[in-house]
Amino acid sequence: MTHRVVVVGSGFGGLFAVKALAKADVEVTLIDKTSQHLFQPLLYQVATGILSEGEIAPATREILARQKNVRVVQGLVESIDITAREVCWRFHDLERTTPYDSLILATGAGQSYFGHTEFATFAPGMKSIDDALELRSRIFGAFELAEISEDPDDVRRLLTFVVVGAGPTGVEMAGQIRELANRTLAHEFRRIDPSTARVMLVDGAPQVLPPFGPQLGEKVARELRRLGVEVVLDTLVTDVDDTGLTLKHKDGTTTRVEATCKVWAAGVEGNPLGRSVAEQAGAGVDRAGRVEVLGDLTLPGHPEVYVIGDLMSVEGVPGQAPAAIQSARYAAESIRTRLAGDVPAKPFAYFDKGSMATIAKYEGVVSIGPLKFTGFLAWLAWLLLHLLLIAGFKQKVSTLVRWALSFISNGRSERVTTNQQLVGRLAMEHLGRRTSGPLMRGELADKDR
Ligand SMILES: Cc1cc2nc3c(=O)[nH]c(=O)nc-3n(C[C@H](O)[C@H](O)[C@H](O)COP(=O)(O)OP(=O)(O)OC[C@H]3O[C@@H](n4cnc5c(N)ncnc54)[C@H](O)[C@@H]3O)c2cc1C
Repeated sequence: MTHRVVVVGSGFGGLFAVKALAKADVEVTLIDKTSQHLFQPLLYQVATGILSEGEIAPATREILARQKNVRVVQGLVESIDITAREVCWRFHDLERTTPYDSLILATGAGQSYFGHTEFATFAPGMKSIDDALELRSRIFGAFELAEISEDPDDVRRLLTFVVVGAGPTGVEMAGQIRELANRTLAHEFRRIDPSTARVMLVDGAPQVLPPFGPQLGEKVARELRRLGVEVVLDTLVTDVDDTGLTLKHKDGTTTRVEATCKVWAAGVEGNPLGRSVAEQAGAGVDRAGRVEVLGDLTLPGHPEVYVIGDLMSVEGVPGQAPAAIQSARYAAESIRTRLAGDVPAKPFAYFDKGSMATIAKYEGVVSIGPLKFTGFLAWLAWLLLHLLLIAGFKQKVSTLVRWALSFISNGRSERVTTNQQLVGRLAMEHLGRRTSGPLMRGELADKDR
């Protein structure tokens, strides 16, 4: 019988693992709760109206159409029995069990609210298309509401945007909201002046972009301040509600900030399936719930179960796309080696290709080994690299066109917001399992919302 490989997750890890198995004599089943391969690094551009969701999330089925040894199915994996070697999943009310000989688990990580899952209702994270569209509605909606509000306090609250977490996502998000307010929306309102919006970036760490080192962090913070972003460091968020949030500073004092629109870009938490398989195998999980895998990315006593990408915990390996891709290729190669009856592969070794982020239009930051710089060249490097990584020729071309238009004109063509985006998630929670299918249950399980 042909060797059966089940891959769970169609993110960078899952997709690249499947592609790396294209020439292997195996039968692959790829299961994901969504129908897409999501390019998470560009979610913030969907949230702020630069790109459409289709540009960063092509259909997985289409990407893999020519790879004959893979079958793509949409379904929420609810449990994995690593003794019986079975994956149980469902799509709406259809429940299925898929047996495997090798399993690659690549379900990534969700947003962590550090034990305060109740914050999620008021400060959505940025992990999925749903998150990005909900945030788009909240951001543009805040300007709309401000335009028709009579009370100056309401206007101030509506025009205050707080981004929690000063990693690359938080920096990019804060920079984009600032640009939106300063440039895109500058002449469109009659009663409010969008450029008076207050954009805050808050983090418990003493610097922005900690992985980039203190020097670059200081430079980026200066640049953000120059653009008009209030950078508040050494400060923890202790409470979040409908109308604002409470900040606790290093000296122990607290501040209440009135803000309708909050974005949570701090902390990650391994997908719950990781903890489940780790418990079954007697493996540990780290503080973020990521699985402490063996050197060959498998579980103790289960050389057929690989945990890769953001869900694995390996010393010195960051939760970034290159790590997911490299671990995916390693797992696929290891399966091929085992099938050929050869000695197991050497332990996984991560090759650090550096980090990049954008701060605003024409402003980026790059850190590749000793090479560290900010400015236009860094922005251009970021642009080219992301263009290369976007899956699908159509998506590459349309993204390039959108970028060109929005950089030349400051305009953004993806500004559609709907009621569905704004209230959809809450409505689905109320409707329950009968109507919402796997997407909702996955979200609920991840965020306990
Ligand atoms: C906003 C943001 C910006 C980022 N920016 C950068 C960047 O600039 N550079 C960089 O290198 N990295 C960046 N990253 C990190 C990078 O995106 C991740 O490291 C990478 O996506 C990890 O790949 P993965 O396959 O492990 O997980 P993911 O890409 O998260 O994929 C997990 C997949 O599993 C599926 N899934 C989850 N649970 C289930 C279930 N129960 N059943 C079925 N399917 C399930 C999900 O639908 C998803 O498709 C960013 C991440 C975010 C969120």
